[in-house]
Amino acid sequence: MSALYKKLLSEHVPFYRMLPENKKLEFENRVQLFLAKVKITGVNTTVEDIDRVLIAASAIIPIFNFPNWEYINLHEVLLYPGSFNHDFEQQGPQRDILGMVGSGALNHIMILSQAELRHAFSNETDARNTAIHEFVHLIDKTDGSIDGVPTSILDQKYIVPWLQLMQKEIGLIHDNQSEINPYGATNQAEFFAVVSEYFFERPELLQQHHPELYDLLVKIFSTPKP
Ligand SMILES: [Zn+2]
Repeated sequence: MSALYKKLLSEHVPFYRMLPENKKLEFENRVQLFLAKVKITGVNTTVEDIDRVLIAASAIIPIFNFPNWEYINLHEVLLYPGSFNHDFEQQGPQRDILGMVGSGALNHIMILSQAELRHAFSNETDARNTAIHEFVHLIDKTDGSIDGVPTSILDQKYIVPWLQLMQKEIGLIHDNQSEINPYGATNQAEFFAVVSEYFFERPELLQQHHPELYDLLVKIFSTPKP
């Protein structure tokens, strides 16, 4: 990997910064492999090195403990300068979408906002990261459906406890008893993506506030406990 890419990872990706040296090398290799396979295209914007590094890092972080993982359902990432609406318009009202996993004609395509991508990695105190959120949807989608139950990585024996815990935590959001991003109460798929952002952005905080949820996410992503 080029010295520039290593520098960008060190400066902007806390997950990478915290890895031991041998794991850093593995992370770099997997970032390169991802970038060799997935095309990144700017739409009304220019894709810069930092964007390529941050997109690849967002892809590798959630599946770093799965050495042979490949995003078989992704061919291209489209980078829009900012938010967009449901008709993929970049101007006009209701441009509230910051990222999405395509379906139908856009199958195998992900769309991300460049501004949001960069913002998520420069803000290390919130628990949000849209690019990680979208890659978690893709992981979820690998078994055929985006439903909050990622059977391609989740051990069978955790499915029932996971469904029960999701129900409980979504209920707490509805009752205003939770500081989890309320968007997570939309449905189980969004809940899984939202709490995964929290898990990878602020693991200690999640462990403190939601120990049960933290423990199960450790099992889902097979992350060695700190
Ligand atoms: Zn989502």
